[in-house]
Amino acid sequence: RDLVSPEPVGDEPVIEATLRPKRLSEFIGQQRVREQLSLVLESARRRRRPPDHVLMSGGPGLGKTTLALIIAAELGAPIRMTSGPALERAGDLAAILSTLTEGEVLFIDEIHRMARPAEEMLYLAMEDFRIDVVVGKGPGATSIPLEIAPFTLVGATTRAGLLPAPLRDRFGFTAHMDFYEVAELEQVLHRSARLLGADLREDGAHEIAKRSRGTPRIANRLLRRVRDYAEVRAQGVITREVAAAALDLYEVDAEGLDRLDRAVLEALLRKFGGGPVGLSTLAVAVGEEPETVEIVAEPFLVRQGLLARTPRGRVATALAWKHFGLTPPPGAYG
Ligand code: ATP
Repeated sequence: RDLVSPEPVGDEPVIEATLRPKRLSEFIGQQRVREQLSLVLESARRRRRPPDHVLMSGGPGLGKTTLALIIAAELGAPIRMTSGPALERAGDLAAILSTLTEGEVLFIDEIHRMARPAEEMLYLAMEDFRIDVVVGKGPGATSIPLEIAPFTLVGATTRAGLLPAPLRDRFGFTAHMDFYEVAELEQVLHRSARLLGADLREDGAHEIAKRSRGTPRIANRLLRRVRDYAEVRAQGVITREVAAAALDLYEVDAEGLDRLDRAVLEALLRKFGGGPVGLSTLAVAVGEEPETVEIVAEPFLVRQGLLARTPRGRVATALAWKHFGLTPPPGAYG
C-alpha cells in the first residue's frame, strides 16, 4: 500500500528534500497559485513589508511544504517550521513567536490541528504582531503584552473547511492546491530523473505519470522504484515498457489503482452486482476494517469516478465496470 500513499513513507523526507524545487520558477504546475503568489511576493518586495499571511490548502504530497520553503527563499527570509500537533500549549507557540526575527516566515503544517489556546494566541499575533503572555496561575495571574517582530505566517492544511472562521479570515491569501495533470507530472518526473541521474525517456515518464494519482510525491516514489527495476533488468533505461513492467510487478495498475483499490471495486462488482452496498459489508468482503476502505481507498476511487457514495450505499460506476473489462448493466451509475 505504501507505494501509492500520498503521505511520506519511511525516510522519504530525506530523499524528498533533495528533489524539492527551490524557486517559484522551478515549481511545476499549479499555475494559478504560482501567479497569485508571485504577485503577493512582488508587491511585498516593493512595499518593503512582509507579505500577508498565506494559507495553503490541498491533499498531502501536492507541494505545500515545498511552496512554503520557496516563499521564504523568494523573500530572502529565514523560515521556522512547526506543525499544529506540536503546538499543544500556548507556551509552545509563544516560545516561537517571541524569537522570530523581522520578516521571518513561520510555517505551520497541519494548522487545523493546533490546540485552542495556541490558536487564540495566533489571532493576535497575526493581526497586531503582539501576544499576551500569561504569567502565574489562578487569581494572581497577570497577562503581559509582548510585541513581536512582523512576520509572515504560512499555514498548510489538508482540510481548509476545518479551520475556524476567525483563523481563516486572518489570512490575506489562500492558495488552493489541486491534483496535477499527467503532463505536469511528466515534467516533475523529468526534473527528478535529472537530479537522480536516471535515464528517463518521454514515454517512460508518461507511463509513470499516469499511475501517480495526480500527486508529485507518488510520482517521485514510483520513479525511484522503476529506476531500481531498470538498473537491474534494462541497463538503466526507463522506457514505457520498462515502467509498465516494473509498476505491474509492484501491483500499481494503469490508472494508479493498487491491490486494495482493485479488491474493493472487484468485490463491489462481482459480489454485489455493482451495489449499492453498505460500507461495513463491503469492508468484510475484502477483509479490511471499514475505516481503511473509507479513508485509504475510497477518496481516490471517488475522484476517479469509479465509485460513488450514495445514501443507499457504495455503488460502482459504469466506468468501474469498463475498467475491469466488463459491460455495465443497464442503468449503471454514472
Ligand atoms: P505533506 O503535507 O504530506 O508534507 P506537501 O504537500 O507538503 O505534503 P511536499 O513535501 O511539498 O508536499 O512535496 C512532496 C514531494 O513532491 C517533494 O519531494 C517535492 O519535491 C515534490 N513536489 C511537490 N510539488 C512539486 C512541484 N510542483 N514541482 C516539483 N516537485 C514537486
